[in-house]
This record gives sequence, C-alpha cells and structure tokens, in this order.
Amino acid sequence: MTARLRLDALSVCYGAITALDGVSLEVGAGEAVALLGANGAGKSTLLNAVIGLVPSAAGVVSLDGVALTGRAVHRRAALGLGYCPEGRRVFPGMTVYDNLAVASPRAKRAREEAIARQFALFPALADKAYDRAWQLSGGQQQMLAIARALMTEPRVLLLDEPSLGLAPLLAQEMLAHVRAIAASGTAVLLAEQNVATALAVTQRAYVLQVGRVVESGPSAALRTSPAIQAAFLGA
Ligand code: ATP
Repeated sequence: MTARLRLDALSVCYGAITALDGVSLEVGAGEAVALLGANGAGKSTLLNAVIGLVPSAAGVVSLDGVALTGRAVHRRAALGLGYCPEGRRVFPGMTVYDNLAVASPRAKRAREEAIARQFALFPALADKAYDRAWQLSGGQQQMLAIARALMTEPRVLLLDEPSLGLAPLLAQEMLAHVRAIAASGTAVLLAEQNVATALAVTQRAYVLQVGRVVESGPSAALRTSPAIQAAFLGA
C-alpha cells in the first residue's frame, strides 16, 4: 500500500550544521505517528522541510505517492498537507469563529460545515466561539491553532509540539485529540518532547537524535524499550 506521507533520505544542512541526515519515514492513512527527540534533534526542521519551508532540503517527500520536490508551500497545502507550527499561532484580536473562518478556502456552506466539525472535535472551542482568541487559555489557543490547520481538510496534519508549555494534565488532554484526528481519516505526524504521552496516543513512533532516526517501531513497544526509558522517561 502507498504511504500517505513518505520521506526518503531527507537531509538538511544549515551551513556546517547537519540538522537532518538521511531520514526516511512513513505515515499511513488514518495513522498517528510520533516524531520524538530532545531539543535540537531536528523535529521542527523535518516538519518545515515537509511543508516546503526548507528549499535546500535533499531527498524526497511524497504525498500519496506524488513527489512534492520543488513545490512551494501553498502548493503542498493545496495538495493536502496541513501544518500547525510550534507556538500556538492564532490571530489574538479575532474571535475563535473568525480564526477558523479565515483559514478556509471554501464557500460559505462548506466553510460552516468545516467549522462545525472543529467544534465537534473541540467542544471547548464551541463554548468560546465569539470570544477573542487572546481571551482563551493556553490549551484552548493550542486547540484553536490545530482546528485552524484542520479547516483545509488536510490528508496529513503536521503538528509541532502541541503540548509545549501546557500543564501535564492539559498536555495529555491536548494529545488525546490526536487520536480522534487520525481516526477521522487525517494522518498525523506529531513532533513531541513529551515522550510518554506522545507514545500513548500514537500507533508508531520514530526517535530522532542529532538528525538521524535511531529507533522506530510500534509506540506500545517503544514505551517499554530500555533505550527509550533511559533516554527520555527517566528510568
Ligand atoms: P526544538 O524542540 O528546539 O524545536 P528540534 O528537534 O525541533 O528542536 P530543530 O529546531 O529542527 O530541532 O533544530 C535542529 C538543529 O538545526 C539544531 O542544531 C538547530 O540549532 C539547527 N537549526 C535549526 N534551524 C536553524 C537555522 N535556521 N539556521 C541554523 N541552524 C538551525
């Protein structure tokens, strides 16, 4: 079966720094896959290269078997890549509803349906539909950022550290949405430093260390792997 998202030997250098070194990975339809690694391991660089923000990246990124090489960010988005960068980037002065509405390229009816889908997925946002985004809690702003990325109905959602800066319980609640998003048919690639929770909400995971995949496999198996426990889980 063709992978929904596939990376073949993706490499990125920033001057003398090798940020990614021949990374290959796959995300299937309906699958949530974790991309784990410490600060500076290369997670953001990988997601940026997939969405097309790193023109110098070597290797091949393909979506449903179609190579994206040479395509600009907006083309990749139109083909079905959704991207939620690190840092809860929402429009603070706009309402929750308007933050979602401006992210949709569709006509009114389809746009309304897409907003209703986000409110079903994130009921906390429905309750705040006409509040300004700056009035939301950090967790709610992160939900809004993800909901906005889903407005284009992407085939693949790239999520960069959605739990960053959230209290542990909120982080768990946030990451639990990842399962629901994947179950609704959008493949998810989730970059996280919150290893235990990311492994709990994904089917498979890849571990990056200094730009290379050092381990990969089913998330359940990685949770009990001595190497993962030693590197990330404080065992
Ligand atoms: P973080 O959790 O801090 O975002 P990360 O795993 O996402 O970490 P990257 O941000 O992808 O890691 O960084 C990978 C490496 O590339 C690091 O050594 C970083 O310093 C370097 N790097 C990232 N962006 C640039 C850039 N624009 N110019 C130069 N070096 C960069």
